[in-house]
Amino acid sequence: MLENKNNSKTSISELGEFGLIDHLTKNFKIDQKTTVKGIGDDAAVLACKSSEEIVITTDLLVEGVHFDLSYMPLKHLGYKAVIVNLSDVYAMNAEATQITVSIGVSNRFPVEALEELYEGIHTAAKYYNIDVVGGDTTSSRTGLIISITAIGRIAKGKAVYRNTAKENDLLVVTGDLGAAYLGLQILEREKKVFEVNPKSQPDLEAYTYLIERHLKPEARKDIPKLLSDLKVVPTSMIDISDGLSSEIIHICKGSNVGCNLYEDKIPLDQQVISTCEEFKLDSTTIALSGGEDYELLFTVKAEDYPKIKGNPNLTVIGHITNENEGMNLITRANTKIPLIARGWNFSKEDS
Ligand code: ADP
Ligand code: MG
Repeated sequence: MLENKNNSKTSISELGEFGLIDHLTKNFKIDQKTTVKGIGDDAAVLACKSSEEIVITTDLLVEGVHFDLSYMPLKHLGYKAVIVNLSDVYAMNAEATQITVSIGVSNRFPVEALEELYEGIHTAAKYYNIDVVGGDTTSSRTGLIISITAIGRIAKGKAVYRNTAKENDLLVVTGDLGAAYLGLQILEREKKVFEVNPKSQPDLEAYTYLIERHLKPEARKDIPKLLSDLKVVPTSMIDISDGLSSEIIHICKGSNVGCNLYEDKIPLDQQVISTCEEFKLDSTTIALSGGEDYELLFTVKAEDYPKIKGNPNLTVIGHITNENEGMNLITRANTKIPLIARGWNFSKEDS
């Protein structure tokens, strides 16, 4: 399938740990004004203004748990590992500025494989305009481990939290939902077909958007800027890594509020709709529980509606209610179903 077929293989031991770090990081340039010292010393040095606050977030990805290298090319893995962290920074309404990258590698990886991983990291760093300022490199007895820490900045007191939504606020989501989960299902299915028949050629034409959303997700760097341009201050915000339902529940529980989410408002791409029809899946369940969309979910004051109305990046999917009303999905048939974090059961609507 998408396996990397490198002919020349250099053992990591040929370069040694320091040689390897130099080799992997030689193309990283410093672009951010706040990076005083990047890779090469005991620690990086970052400048900070007294008018700003620092946002910091970290994620750990473990082979076999978070990714499967049989269909996840290393370049995409590097890119995605950066994106999942940046998404958390943007979800604070902050600007991402630096990352550190730590890897645990087994000796089954040649230098060329790590070069690919770092090519993905480099591409993401350039695209999102962040500096790679450090990391750590160690050996792993099992699979590949990659941990990225992202650093961002926000004007003092302006970070947007999960626990500050208020009754009557509107619930807004960026982009569309469910595609990344379906992309993963398609890749898992093709892997099984490939295992039975290695000569089979997958026809993935109908699923390109879904697969791209899984293999090469993007973080919504544009949204903090868009909201600032629209003069909208979100009252709460979170990124969608575990599925819409669980993120809404985080906001509502954290803020001691309830919500009404309208099924017919959930934004879905045409490929999500057609693939759900093909596999007899319920698209609402996929959007609610799928995860890995890396879109942003936020609340705004009802009076801000005219500012966001009709914006192609933003969809109003519901509103915040009193805590006593609970967290509900209002179905197309106009029935109220309590939202649950995972395994939401569509058949309930039929009863
Ligand atoms: P130390 O012994 O102080 O931990 P290292 O030899 O591990 O230092 O790292 C040397 C420099 O290279 C440091 O600036 C460190 O942040 C950076 N570095 C180490 N591993 C990586 C990596 N995988 N990616 C990016 N930078 C790294
Ligand atoms: Mg070290």
